[in-house]
Amino acid sequence: MPNKLTIRILFPYLTIVLLCTFLVALSSCTRSNDRHTDDHKIVVLAYHQINDDLTNTYTVTPQTFVEQVSSLLRRGYVSINSNDYYAWQTGKQTLPSKCFLLTFDDGSESDYTIVYPLLKKMNLRATFFPVISHIDDPGRISTKQLQEMSRDERYSFGSHTVNHKVLPLLETEELRRELVDSRLFLEKITGKNTISLSYPFGAWIQSTIPIAQEAGYKMAFTIIGGVNGVSSDLFTLRRIAAVNSLQEQDWIRITDFDPETYHDYYSSLLKQSIAAGHTDIATICRNELKKLGN
Ligand SMILES: [Zn+2]
Repeated sequence: MPNKLTIRILFPYLTIVLLCTFLVALSSCTRSNDRHTDDHKIVVLAYHQINDDLTNTYTVTPQTFVEQVSSLLRRGYVSINSNDYYAWQTGKQTLPSKCFLLTFDDGSESDYTIVYPLLKKMNLRATFFPVISHIDDPGRISTKQLQEMSRDERYSFGSHTVNHKVLPLLETEELRRELVDSRLFLEKITGKNTISLSYPFGAWIQSTIPIAQEAGYKMAFTIIGGVNGVSSDLFTLRRIAAVNSLQEQDWIRITDFDPETYHDYYSSLLKQSIAAGHTDIATICRNELKKLGN
């Protein structure tokens, strides 16, 4: 136990240390907010099926899709694809300060029949993540359709693995096969390098990342909500899951990175991830809350 004299001697030093810690925390918080508000803000949106059958939670109708995209365009966001994002983050390309990246998971047939014509009409760029084992299945995109779309440089294609399994549950060898085989298959179909990955169910753990890197990927997308910036981790990129029921005001709050919305979001995700034992996701949530000043 320190005696009173020791405490008296140490007190001024402790005060200085605490004050410095506070100032460092404050400045890093300010920097982080600047990154999101004054610097680049890259919003990545995760879509699944686009059609009028709303029985699936993640289905968005064509009309809502057009409204959501138009809302971003009206607010000055510029459309990019995953290759543009990677080139920007690795310093090979410049981008406007506000961009949005449309991504489409699972490889639904609607990617070709509904999304592709809409994207062309609106001159938008986008990235598609088909599940390889489902290509050519009924209701899914076909090899021919993928080949046709890949000839247009506005669209990039990434892996959503071969069989859409929960990656953290796989043994290393099976995980490696899911990642490598899907990349090689896509490269054969599109004739282009496949550098991006979308984790099925958004599920990953820290040990997934080096295996994805060894398998040839340069970036990977989660479904942890949030906006990406210059210092984002390329293997835990955030995406906002687009749903049909979002009202325009909520859509604006979410895509414009409203701190209050994100505070609520990360607080609830933190509770869920602690309850589910997802320590990696819990760490991300804590860091985000810290950046938001809590
Ligand atoms: Zn999926």
